[in-house]
Amino acid sequence: MSFELSVPEKVIFGRGCLARLEQLVAGYGDRALVVHGANSDRAQSVKGLLVKSGFETHLYSVGGEPTVEDIAKGVDEAKRKNVTLVIGIGGGSAIDAAKAISGLATNPGDIHDYLEVIGRGNPLTKSGLACVAIPTTAGTGAEVTRNSVIASLEHKVKVSLRSPFLLPRIALVDPELSYSLPAKVTIATGLDALTQLIEPLASIRANPVTDGLCREGIPRVARSLPAVVQNGKDFTAREEMSLASLFGGLALANAGLGAVHGLAGPIGGMFNAPHGLVCGILLPFVVDANIKALRSRTPKSIALGRYDEIGQLLTASRQADAADGLGWLTDLNKTLHVPRLSSLGIPKESIPEIAGKAAKASSMKANPIELTLPELEAILHAAWQG
Ligand SMILES: [Zn+2]
Repeated sequence: MSFELSVPEKVIFGRGCLARLEQLVAGYGDRALVVHGANSDRAQSVKGLLVKSGFETHLYSVGGEPTVEDIAKGVDEAKRKNVTLVIGIGGGSAIDAAKAISGLATNPGDIHDYLEVIGRGNPLTKSGLACVAIPTTAGTGAEVTRNSVIASLEHKVKVSLRSPFLLPRIALVDPELSYSLPAKVTIATGLDALTQLIEPLASIRANPVTDGLCREGIPRVARSLPAVVQNGKDFTAREEMSLASLFGGLALANAGLGAVHGLAGPIGGMFNAPHGLVCGILLPFVVDANIKALRSRTPKSIALGRYDEIGQLLTASRQADAADGLGWLTDLNKTLHVPRLSSLGIPKESIPEIAGKAAKASSMKANPIELTLPELEAILHAAWQG
């Protein structure tokens, strides 16, 4: 057995832990850039804490999923203001933007030198500015991962900037920041968290540490996601979702993902559809296809045992198996009124193109079995109309 773990220098979790920011940033210089989403309320409170610690603080807003231009402008801003610290507060988009800005601000050249697929794909060679990631949703786990997803409007694709230097220095996870999330965002991000715990547990790159994280995380989502959708003020359930999201991020960063994310990547690049929701729609169909392919081609694979275990973790029953888990996932989507791909404005004609791109996606490489192009298309057809 051998494995490697990448985690931030510090991961801090707990209700109200945002208040510790003031003390945590001591030693990170005296000029900060706070990267946030469309709403600046939270960023203003972060600014308040930083100003108290003696930081000259600038805010930078990224409206939605960051574009190449958003990042390039943010890097210019960081350089012009000579900042020493970058803070990302918000959902996965704001945090990914902060990670990319902090990484690119210290490396020579411009963003196109480092982007994969549409740029020159060079590796970052220098550590970035210190970055603190503070999630306000419970799902992406972006506070503990080493990549940023960036959209190119010009090429109509989303690409990843990947580097060990993008791992935030500190992940500060305060469940209280997720208390006011609207139901729609709670569902989409919660389904992402669930997918990011199931895929690493079945991944061919799973290791004992990520297994432990997934085993702790899956039951938490199973009991708390339906609870928090029913009652957004169930703060215990909110806390469990924040923890599960963190565990999912740590697991995916170290064990990889699978076919759900392999398919969700090109869908996200081609259409304007929420990532977590797309993952939630695909999840039962991918689990079904993986189990069938494993049974017919590699019936001795340990991944089949993993799917039985996932069934037990989801249903909280020791007698459960893979089929029970699949049934549970299908029921969850009915309970949460998760739609089909057809209702997200994805035309049926695009299925072959999505499958073709997905077959080459990096997440696909960690899937427990290599799915064929016809199998990928069949998943998409099933998830399209159900
Ligand atoms: Zn995801």
